[in-house]
Amino acid sequence: MKLPSDIKSYVKGNILKKVGKWLLSTFTLALFIILFNDSFKNVDAGVRAFVYAAILLIPFFLLKMPKLIFDRSFEGIIERIYTVDGVGTTSKAIPTYETTMRTVEVSAEVRISASKTKTIVIYSGRFDSRVAKILNNYQVGNRIIHICGAKHDQIVTADKISCIICGHNNKRSRTTCAECGSSLNLSN
Ligand SMILES: [Zn+2]
Repeated sequence: MKLPSDIKSYVKGNILKKVGKWLLSTFTLALFIILFNDSFKNVDAGVRAFVYAAILLIPFFLLKMPKLIFDRSFEGIIERIYTVDGVGTTSKAIPTYETTMRTVEVSAEVRISASKTKTIVIYSGRFDSRVAKILNNYQVGNRIIHICGAKHDQIVTADKISCIICGHNNKRSRTTCAECGSSLNLSN
């Protein structure tokens, strides 16, 4: 997929920001370890090394670096939606228990090609009106485009197209986002 230049620089900036945050926090922790190493001199060296390694790995997992490493762009049609209240029983990602549940977990099966499907986690976490608005886009039959490093997926319906930068749902006829001005046509 050849991305428009504004989307390309957004994705690049987003990835760099995440990697930068991770490096900075790991570096800061390393600095503390070096500074306070003397205070733990009586602790066994092997134990110390193990604890230090564990501490240095905290930002890696806290900042969800594994997710970034395995993040791949894809495009396909949503074929099935799974919520915790039933498998494939709903065509929408919005859970039927939305008023009573505080957290939700929603995933979907996406048809990439005639012979290939992919299961993705759409959302896992707290449920509120902002999340409901985003989840409302994920419906069976809609086209989904995920760009590696982007915060939002693009969902294309018969009359709507969403923005991968701010998540805004635009009229299908628009070429730029009404909210943030970014390009909407990703396969330009
Ligand atoms: Zn936008």
